[in-house]
Amino acid sequence: MTSDDFRSLVVAMAAAIEANADRLTELDSAIGDGDHGANMKRGFQAVLGELDQLATKPVPEALKAAGMKLVMTVGGASGPLVGTLLMTLGKELPADFDRQAFVMAYEKAVDAVAARGKSHAGQKTMLDVLYPILDAMREGADPDEVAARARAAADATVPMLATRGRASFLGERSIGHMDPGAASVALLAGVVARTLQTHQGA
Ligand code: ADP
Ligand code: MG
Repeated sequence: MTSDDFRSLVVAMAAAIEANADRLTELDSAIGDGDHGANMKRGFQAVLGELDQLATKPVPEALKAAGMKLVMTVGGASGPLVGTLLMTLGKELPADFDRQAFVMAYEKAVDAVAARGKSHAGQKTMLDVLYPILDAMREGADPDEVAARARAAADATVPMLATRGRASFLGERSIGHMDPGAASVALLAGVVARTLQTHQGA
């Protein structure tokens, strides 16, 4: 991945979050406090604002800096969690990485999110999409397949009972709604898949 790829990726992620902010906020209004779309938007706009500076760094360093920016600018739970994902990815990735190195770094990054959130899979959170993405990548799925698995995993949070995060305060009433953080991660996985495809000319 080159700095140009990184730049395209951040621009596409920020645009997707912006376009879906209302839907993400609606999901969070149903089982949270209705700020998830705004939180994610604020975070990605802040990263976008530093893109020129970020793009001068090697990709792992840029990921670390982008993650830190999210942690600093997003007040909600999602900022520190998505920020931890990017920061850990950046910390674990070698400057020149292949697919295998990426999967290994991503595994550490998802574990870091779980540690920060004191959470695990099955609690109706973003981890219920982050782990299926790991499984799909380990099985050698191509980016499109990974994104499709992420969407299916977000859909699968609908019947789940939330036992972590704000939605857990609702108990049984959390059942029947998609987890907003899961929806965001699935959205971002789709963006990564499309961006990689464009840049590989596929
Ligand atoms: P807040 O809950 O502080 O209002 P957001 O609305 O931005 O923050 O983000 C909510 C999302 O964050 C949830 O939908 C869930 O996916 C994720 N989340 C919240 N707490 C945790 C946690 N402890 N572990 C993993 N994910 C969490
Ligand atoms: Mg919220």
